[in-house]
Amino acid sequence: MIKTPKKSLIVTLISLLLFGNSPALSVSSENSLPDIGTSAGATLSINQEIEMGDFFIRQIRAGAPLIDDPLLNQYINKLGHKLVNHADSVKTPFQFYLINNPAINAYAVFGGNVVLHSGLFRYSRNESELASVMAHEISHVTQRHLARFMEDTQRKAPFAWAGILGSILLMMANPQAGMATLSGTLGGFQQGIISFTQSNEQEADRIGMQILNNSGFNPHGMPDFMQILVDQTRYSSKPPEMLLTHPLPDSRLSDARNRANQYPKKTVPESESQDFLFARVRILTISATDQLNYIEQILNNYSQGTTKEQLAASYGRVLLLSQAQKYAEAKTVLSPLLDKQPDNIWFIDAMTDIDIEQKQYEQAITRLQHALQKHQNNPVLQINLANAYIQAKHYPQASQLLFRYTFNNPNDPTGWSLMTELAKKQGKRDKELVSYAETMALQGKFDMAINYLSQASALVALNSNDQARYDARIDQLRQLKQRYSQYDK
Ligand SMILES: [Zn+2]
Repeated sequence: MIKTPKKSLIVTLISLLLFGNSPALSVSSENSLPDIGTSAGATLSINQEIEMGDFFIRQIRAGAPLIDDPLLNQYINKLGHKLVNHADSVKTPFQFYLINNPAINAYAVFGGNVVLHSGLFRYSRNESELASVMAHEISHVTQRHLARFMEDTQRKAPFAWAGILGSILLMMANPQAGMATLSGTLGGFQQGIISFTQSNEQEADRIGMQILNNSGFNPHGMPDFMQILVDQTRYSSKPPEMLLTHPLPDSRLSDARNRANQYPKKTVPESESQDFLFARVRILTISATDQLNYIEQILNNYSQGTTKEQLAASYGRVLLLSQAQKYAEAKTVLSPLLDKQPDNIWFIDAMTDIDIEQKQYEQAITRLQHALQKHQNNPVLQINLANAYIQAKHYPQASQLLFRYTFNNPNDPTGWSLMTELAKKQGKRDKELVSYAETMALQGKFDMAINYLSQASALVALNSNDQARYDARIDQLRQLKQRYSQYDK
């Protein structure tokens, strides 16, 4: 299923932070947040960090162009968790998000949330380079740099948390504006913050490279990617955003190069990961429709490259043909690929999209059901199948599948938006309202969510199970709103 990323903000996550039983919510509800103003230097608890991360991610969903693409989200999360599995001191769940932004940037938000810009895929030439950025961010999280930064700031000046948090969030999303706000908030403390950041950068590089190497990637991916950043600085009037949140003095690059040289030489093939190539081609195709020439150039290079690169080039052609609504041509390219690799999720997804566009719903459904026997509970296949059921007007099957899906993946906006679409088609107004309420809640718009749930509650029979469920959800969201109000300015 292709959804062109829109400014309107939806992300897909296969989430670890479940509504009802997330570690953040269940544990921290037992003890209210410590009063930082009077206990400067007290360690920011992990649970509090996770809760702040959850708050931030809701804000980001509401305001940033998150890429709503199950395949790409599956890819970055799989890669991210491969790295996390080789990290020490992992205290939070990890979740990776992709934002449609051509600037090279990545940042770690509180509580194991790591945000990547799509621009990283344009500039990373192989998976080790991309993974080096992710390993660096993962290390900021495991070393709790952001939490330590906040504590440090608190020690220096007892400012309101909301102001500092807001500035940090802004700095991550828009470093130049954020830095100005932060220095405004903190006045003379800015210098201290920057040196603090540099020591964190060194630590994140050092630990990140261990993670990178231990996960089987080429440690030279890190200095190689830093070199790309340096070159960008040289050739453009504006330095990459990433350098504002992650300062890169020459010493960082030479340190990373020296360190990488100390690791035993590893033969990681040039284009080691087929999935990386597919993801790169897919991101370039769906996130930059105005840069067709550039994409053509990449695909041409790939088509003369290794077998894996050639396959990625063909996949890219299929996506471009589909985007141009040349479905028959797209199928001609894709069919032999799918014949050779019938379990390939990238190909299954692309073929399903074409089938649905051509209104061949039953064919899509059969293919997806078959694939799900092999890849049980795969989110990409489930979302595609739910969509195919809805298009084919198989509403009971769609309903059953989406009920289970949203239960297992409550933080995935795609599940809720399909649920909303289904309820609308079925004329079930209360279900439509409650599904939409979940979409709003995921964006931190609790008042709207509660309002929709109240409307739904008024529509159903008094004292019915549905009403009890909607009312209970209203209570939960009221509590969440109350707890998160402290982070709002
Ligand atoms: Zn950094």
